[in-house]
Amino acid sequence: MSRYIIKQTSLLIPTLREAPAEAEARSHQLLLRAGFIRQLAAGIYSYLPLGWRVLRRIQTIVREEMDQAGFQELHLPAMQPAELWERSGRYGAYGAELIRLQDRHEREFVLGPTHEEVITALAASEVNTYRKLPLRLYQIQTKFRDERRPRFGLLRGREFLMKDAYSFDRSWEELDRTYQAVRDAYRRIFTRCGLKFSMVEAEAGAIGGEGETHEFMAPAEIGEDTIVSCMACGYAANLEKAAAAAGERAADEAESQAPAIEKVATPNTRTIEEVSAFLGVPSSHILKTMIYMADDKPVAAVVRGDHEVNENKLAAAIGCVTLELADPQEVLKVTGAPHGYAGPVGLDIPVYLDRDAVLHGGAAAGAGEEHAHVRNVVPFRDFQPAHIGDYRSVQEGDRCPNCGETLHFAKGIEVGHVFKLGTKYSSVLDAGYTDEAGREQTMIMGCYGIGVSRLLSAVAEQSPAEQGMCWPLGIAPYSVHLIPVSAQDPEQAAVVDQIAKELARQGVECLVDDREERPGVKFKDADLIGLPLRIVVGKRAGEGVVEWTDRRAGGRTEVAWQEAARLAA
Ligand code: ATP
Ligand code: MG
Ligand code: MG
Ligand code: MG
Repeated sequence: MSRYIIKQTSLLIPTLREAPAEAEARSHQLLLRAGFIRQLAAGIYSYLPLGWRVLRRIQTIVREEMDQAGFQELHLPAMQPAELWERSGRYGAYGAELIRLQDRHEREFVLGPTHEEVITALAASEVNTYRKLPLRLYQIQTKFRDERRPRFGLLRGREFLMKDAYSFDRSWEELDRTYQAVRDAYRRIFTRCGLKFSMVEAEAGAIGGEGETHEFMAPAEIGEDTIVSCMACGYAANLEKAAAAAGERAADEAESQAPAIEKVATPNTRTIEEVSAFLGVPSSHILKTMIYMADDKPVAAVVRGDHEVNENKLAAAIGCVTLELADPQEVLKVTGAPHGYAGPVGLDIPVYLDRDAVLHGGAAAGAGEEHAHVRNVVPFRDFQPAHIGDYRSVQEGDRCPNCGETLHFAKGIEVGHVFKLGTKYSSVLDAGYTDEAGREQTMIMGCYGIGVSRLLSAVAEQSPAEQGMCWPLGIAPYSVHLIPVSAQDPEQAAVVDQIAKELARQGVECLVDDREERPGVKFKDADLIGLPLRIVVGKRAGEGVVEWTDRRAGGRTEVAWQEAARLAA
């Protein structure tokens, strides 16, 4: 039998009649029921043959487009010495998501959640002259992140497949061109995978960096991110970025009127990464707290990420909230009302302070407890990461930054992320080179991820609910499902054989359901497996007539078998 024709009796496709109770997301249910994946432990999955075929097809597309964009594939170790992570400063900063282990000599290692350290160290040791730059590298690798809440099947795993790419350029202009080439490649990749997606402006999270960053979002209800967009002018950003942008604009307006705020306390000394690790939420969602005096009242201003912000601007942009300093034994939830200086920005910000932060702020403010009012104390054990999502300074229906039209909110799944890193890693890991004039320079880096296994789930999540799964042709495990209603019927078998040979001749991948099952069982399984094209050979086989369905469009038609084979090609 040709490699293009596969008999279903020879495959491991353990379909399930019922959706397992633990699967909340539609894609998770579909993948389990269709026998594409099985869970080994929370957030850790086996890819069964059909699921792996889809992943391989996605990987092929990723490889073709990354190669096209001038990137070379390599493969880096998953097991990495902790020492390297100490050098970049991320060994502590990455927090509980980083999986740490020891070898038999008690040397510390990590399982790579990402590979900036390894690749930058490689570039540092192997490249030292401008003549070898720009350098563009990528890999497709298993990543390990001990996610606080692995869920939704492959959407948030603890072990998952990522394509990660890294660029080393000689100037920011050169990086701009690389960045553009990657974004173009990403558009082609997601389009070929049959995904609906949009590219949004984003804010740098734990990976950080000096330059701009964009996320590729697949709109889906289950998505954990919010896409803020304007139909009129095409503006699109994630919620955090849109909130920050709205804050900055409001600040520009308010700054001229706002009285100066006297800063009396130093910012608390926790880094954003420490707070991120402590709370177990992405650092992009953490608000740094600072304490100010304004009109004799202590107020807390809050800033997202590690941006440099003018403090008046900050207070006006992010809003000032009355600071609650309570029993320092408790971790506080402080819900603030917008302070007068918040200007046009209406806010309801939950601020989470741990004990140290409270003590530090209070002490530095000078008896901070005395003039603080306590409200809404929530012990730390009741803290839910979801509360962080309450932080919004942009609301659905607000006007848009560019054109003044109404902003639209939608849920999205982050399938890709591109960053201009600049010299964040190359400076600390000594990735330098000598330029044309013989001067020492630091490489300008970018990094670019695609969640390969998440992408598979995102596609499933977007498939229309009415018709069961229907894989886009570009990534389907096979293109055609060829189903004899009765496998033993000699007339049907003969027609199936003719069609299969013709499809094999044309190089079309075809799955033949040669099982001796009842038709109902076969069709139920076929709907679960979700191949986009279907040919059913039934009672009119004697006349050479079969039933043809392009499941992407729906509807069935009876056609001569030759016509069905032609349509499938
Ligand atoms: P998220 O915000 O969903 O936690 P991230 O911003 O932490 O993702 P990146 O560090 O940007 O992720 O990694 C690049 C890509 O890897 C992401 O865009 C996403 O598609 C994928 N990815 C990240 N974490 C996971 C995960 N736990 N399971 C599956 N895919 C993931
Ligand atoms: Mg994450
Ligand atoms: Mg993210
Ligand atoms: Mg990201």
